[in-house]
Amino acid sequence: MAIAYISHGACAKHEMGAYHPEQPARLDAINDRLIASGLEMVLHRYDAPQAERAQLLRVHDADYVDQVFAASPHDGLAWLDGDTAMNPHTLDAALHAAGAAVLGVDLVMQDKAEQVFCAIRPPGHHAERHRAMGFCFFNNVAVGAAHAMAAHGVERVAIVDFDVHHGNGTEDIFKDDPRALFCSTFQHPFYPHSGYDTQSDHIVNVPLPAGADGAAFREAVQDHWLPALHEFRPQLVMISAGFDAHVEDDMAHLKLHEFDYAWVTRKLCEVADDHAAGRVVSTLEGGYSLHALARSVAVHIKSFMGAHHH
Ligand SMILES: [Zn+2]
Repeated sequence: MAIAYISHGACAKHEMGAYHPEQPARLDAINDRLIASGLEMVLHRYDAPQAERAQLLRVHDADYVDQVFAASPHDGLAWLDGDTAMNPHTLDAALHAAGAAVLGVDLVMQDKAEQVFCAIRPPGHHAERHRAMGFCFFNNVAVGAAHAMAAHGVERVAIVDFDVHHGNGTEDIFKDDPRALFCSTFQHPFYPHSGYDTQSDHIVNVPLPAGADGAAFREAVQDHWLPALHEFRPQLVMISAGFDAHVEDDMAHLKLHEFDYAWVTRKLCEVADDHAAGRVVSTLEGGYSLHALARSVAVHIKSFMGAHHH
């Protein structure tokens, strides 16, 4: 079945200053790589709609959503935290980024696609119920997961986060909701300094020390994520796909390679094949080395294709 690729032109207009690592060139690098690799030809492209207010309110407080709308500047930058700013296009980009996750969920739940990759920015996994932080405004993957529950009656959604940073926002949003199983690996101690001490039967956090390589990452996935995922039997697998744990990414200090991303993607597709009719919706989070990001996204998407059992 089809692999869908969801993006929107607005996502390239959000910019937080010339030297900010979370930059529009990230999406250009991914697109170039998909074209050069020939992968582009097998993807079904969709334009992301804007998320509706009601869809945002499933995971964010109304006064926080109002705050983000009110902060949107007519020109220049409006800083919401030390490294998170809005330009005049950011609100539009953030709405389309969250809307991409909603459309992705609709496509897999309606059998119009089996796997979906959302090439979006701003990213989302640091955005909490009531707080923008860490380059994130609305929690895209959470908006998608909540949509699956509310609009499609999904009772068990797995959200898997292999970004090098802990997905504090996603954990904040679903910490009291056992319909979501949240699995995360992240460098620790490191920004945002959360998750390492979480006690919950539906949150599986595995902190990794600086310098940890692909073998350590795979051991974490094998020993902690996969048993929890198979026991949970998700009806939908969602991925917070950040690629900043790559050895070439100097944002952090883990040492993953493309083949580690290929491996974990196959494992997650196997979970989806076993329990969720193959349904996977992946949303871009971090990844700041343009070359490593583009190669990693390409193998991530390519690994969707090798994983079919039906
Ligand atoms: Zn990150």
